[in-house]
Amino acid sequence: MIKFDILTIFPEMFSSPLNFSLIKKAQEKGLLNINLHDIRNWAHDKHKMTDDSPYGGGCGMVMKVEPVEKALAAIKDRETQSQVILMTPQGRPLTQKIVTELSEKKQLIIFCGRYEGVDERISTNLVDREISIGDYILTGGELPALVLIDAVSRLIPGVLGNAQSTDNESFSHGLLEYPQYTRPAIYKGWSVPDVLISGNHAEIELWRRRESIRRTYRRRPDLLKGIDLSTEDMKILEQIKSEDT
Ligand code: SAM
Repeated sequence: MIKFDILTIFPEMFSSPLNFSLIKKAQEKGLLNINLHDIRNWAHDKHKMTDDSPYGGGCGMVMKVEPVEKALAAIKDRETQSQVILMTPQGRPLTQKIVTELSEKKQLIIFCGRYEGVDERISTNLVDREISIGDYILTGGELPALVLIDAVSRLIPGVLGNAQSTDNESFSHGLLEYPQYTRPAIYKGWSVPDVLISGNHAEIELWRRRESIRRTYRRRPDLLKGIDLSTEDMKILEQIKSEDT
């Protein structure tokens, strides 16, 4: 079981996405425990302010440190392995490797920024990791937090069930996944590769490995630098490269 504690000023944004399909079922089965915390509950001034104008001037507002520090003190489990994560475009880009590391924790506290961002003292003193979901700017950290929750939850044993496996997925072994097809075998003259309906499992495995390498080479050659290919895979790659020249 993994526990997610979300710190946000918009807890309502989470209710719908977390109440469908596998994530909903996993919560019902007790595999995921997702708690939403409104940061305003820890803002003790008369207007429950969670943001203020930036020191030094400039437009926009900055999220204040006090409510976040108080919220973390209240919700962080002392005994469990917990990680406090700030969603920020300035963080490490999220990868399947990071998702896997996080899936081994017991508690993930995810802080969603808003406005111009958050007081730097939050990042410096209260946060274990800063994570970005890509090089673009969103209005808040709620959608990035949902992306992170979804990606981590899939790796918690029991969440996907037996029907789906994460073993051959894109990024799990550094390569993109091979192309998938389903019935009918021919639609509007567009046909499924013969090998997939041949029933020859060894040939199918070989085809899938080759297509996985081909796809990675053509679409994401950067990924190939980070993995150790076997001698057999290297031969396949060389063949694909020669076909492309
Ligand atoms: N002024 C900030 C900057 O230039 O880095 C951007 C602030 S953004 C408008 C407001 C909040 O949205 C951020 O504090 C963060 O929590 C969230 N956010 C926006 N884009 C994000 C991304 N690509 N990944 C993760 N969080 C993001």
